[in-house]
Amino acid sequence: MTRPILLRRGRVIDPSQRLDERLDLLLVDARVAGVGRDLSPPEGTAVVDVSGLVVAPGLIDLHVHLREPGDEHKETIASGARAAVAGGFTSICAMPNTRPPIDDPAAVGFVRAEGERAGFARVYPVGAVSVGLKGEEITEVGELVAEGAIAVSDDGRPVWDSGLARRVLEYTQAFDIPYFSHAEDLGLSGNGVMNEGPVSTALGLRGIPNAAEDVAVARDCILAELTGGHLHILHVSTRGAVEIIRAVKSRGGRVTAEATPHHLALTDEAVRGYRTEAKMNPPLRSAADVSAVRDALVEGVIDCIATDHAPHHYEDKEREFDDAPFGIVGLETALGVCVRELVVSGRFDLLELIQRLSCQPARIAGIPGGTLAEGAPADVVVFDPEERWICRPEEFKSLSRNTPFAGQELVGRVAMTLVGGRPVFDRMGDRRAATAGVEVS
Ligand SMILES: [Zn+2]
Repeated sequence: MTRPILLRRGRVIDPSQRLDERLDLLLVDARVAGVGRDLSPPEGTAVVDVSGLVVAPGLIDLHVHLREPGDEHKETIASGARAAVAGGFTSICAMPNTRPPIDDPAAVGFVRAEGERAGFARVYPVGAVSVGLKGEEITEVGELVAEGAIAVSDDGRPVWDSGLARRVLEYTQAFDIPYFSHAEDLGLSGNGVMNEGPVSTALGLRGIPNAAEDVAVARDCILAELTGGHLHILHVSTRGAVEIIRAVKSRGGRVTAEATPHHLALTDEAVRGYRTEAKMNPPLRSAADVSAVRDALVEGVIDCIATDHAPHHYEDKEREFDDAPFGIVGLETALGVCVRELVVSGRFDLLELIQRLSCQPARIAGIPGGTLAEGAPADVVVFDPEERWICRPEEFKSLSRNTPFAGQELVGRVAMTLVGGRPVFDRMGDRRAATAGVEVS
């Protein structure tokens, strides 16, 4: 049994209750026991002074690649879950494109059990849409859900067969789960390695046009309207995709969407110098695309932020640009990048940011969390919204270091993360050296 904890006099931000106030938060028996002014805790409670810090529902990431099974040198379920809590995430959804893929009930059960065993962030498996991610035969969706899958996806690859995509959107309704779509027309993206535009021309690299995403998003949206299934579009990166999603939502289509911190923060200019840490799929786009994606997030056309955390080994990213793998890690930089890009710039207040990083993802995936209402799981992030810090990949808990934000100043840093009322990440010690300590009542 975990000892009760009282987080005293923090700035409690909980969009689910429209709260942004200096309050106490009491956590007892893995649940939120109360939020209010000057709470008197039960005997034996650990009292932590969090004045000056934000206390919010733990962040939730719908889109994470853990590399277990198959590539444990890049990331394991445990190392990824540990990186998650260091970044303030209390729940993460693990994509199925491992080796072998998560396409049967035993594999789903393995991911769930390993996540529980690690004891950091909660790990929710995403099951594969197709057997072996081959895009041919649909998986036993019901059995995957029974073992704990919260969604299905072939992420990393699109479901190119429109008939299969239609059937998935029909099946998932029976189990009330979303279909997470990696929307890409492979014929259009071809052998491209970065965004198609003036920068790819200047660098002499093969481009991936916006149309590769726009066409696929349009198809999936049409199928979502046809079937009534819940379509969630992963990593939106183009202004065209934004327009299509806006239109289908305005007609009442059951479509949700996410954007990554890197697509909100960086353009394809970051690729100059053939920097492989700026190589991802979908690629970093033009300034006009970044601006459209940001506007869509503010407007609510894009519902949430997800990292697409994609660990790769140093040696793989050291290869020539053409041969290097796509993807970057994101769990430990997401909050700092988002506060810098969205809050410091005045586009968002912190309440809106927590909405997009916690409440909305919980709603989309239908998982617990995203609220500090009484009785909710005691999944909490405590962070300093103003702390400026330099991103040093060598300090990551993730086993991989591939980030385009290395050496940059980020704003907003996690001080403490609690999952089920248990502190699973704690930097308060460093902070306390300058302030008051923990008192025990
Ligand atoms: Zn993807």
